[in-house]
Amino acid sequence: MKKPMVVATILEELRSERSLLSEPVGFVPTMGYLHDGHLSLIRRAVEECVSVVVSIFVNPTQFGPKEDLATYPRDIEGDLRKLESMGVNLVWIPTSEVMYPGGYQTWVDVETLTLPLEGKLRPGHFRGVTTVVVKLFNGVLPGKAYFGQKDAQQVAVIRQMTRDLNIPTEIVVCPIIREPDGLAMSSRNAYLDPDQRKAAAVLFLALTNAKDAYGKGERNGENLRVLVREMIVAESLAEIQYVSCADFGTLQELDTLTGKTLLSIAVFFGKTRLIDNIVLV
Ligand code: AMP
Repeated sequence: MKKPMVVATILEELRSERSLLSEPVGFVPTMGYLHDGHLSLIRRAVEECVSVVVSIFVNPTQFGPKEDLATYPRDIEGDLRKLESMGVNLVWIPTSEVMYPGGYQTWVDVETLTLPLEGKLRPGHFRGVTTVVVKLFNGVLPGKAYFGQKDAQQVAVIRQMTRDLNIPTEIVVCPIIREPDGLAMSSRNAYLDPDQRKAAAVLFLALTNAKDAYGKGERNGENLRVLVREMIVAESLAEIQYVSCADFGTLQELDTLTGKTLLSIAVFFGKTRLIDNIVLV
């Protein structure tokens, strides 16, 4: 009979339970409040790996001082029920004190790739992300780790970091899971009131509209940015933070599209900041 799922909250427990797992071990880091986007990553890990570890940690170091750390939605009981039913072996739920004890002073910083987009608007965000991912990897020692294309720059930054630091974990990227109206699933969607939730469908419509234009031959970066902007601006509840049409590898803005391209956006609905993207190939 399969061993019941184990929940570890201190590092010693994680290490000893991890040492009992059969290889290969797959790992899905999350901040919890699990939705079908998270579950798609976990399902893929269960398919591809003999053992699966999931972490739930709302990492304070990746939130800015004016961001939503205090209100970030949490539902540990509900999350554990979902993870158990999916056949996850080990759940790592550290506290902030376990991850960042007094006297903590070491950070992982990826340089150029973190400068535009999310990195520009959320100073320090990626330093928090890369640091916590290395700490999680060092506890879980995964053969494969699963991330969502929803956070496109995060994926690029983590790939760069694993290459640069010779981290022996394969990074697997999974597609964006969407609601029936196209809104990318996100724990933060829970903040939207009914009008904002309805209005937020404009994000995917705007991205797909630009993708259609690309399909018809549009290769001018600014024209594609304008197409996306115009559609979102028409939605009065939306406030654009950025619309980017950038090289998929470098994340630098493009005048002319020549290869794989990332069209990405950050848009506020009230105080809720949503991101989404689509890849043009
Ligand atoms: P989070 O809990 O927001 O840190 O997300 C944990 C992981 O789930 C990250 O790798 C995200 O990119 C991924 N993820 C979040 N939302 C989605 C989604 N709608 N589709 C696919 N992956 C997602």
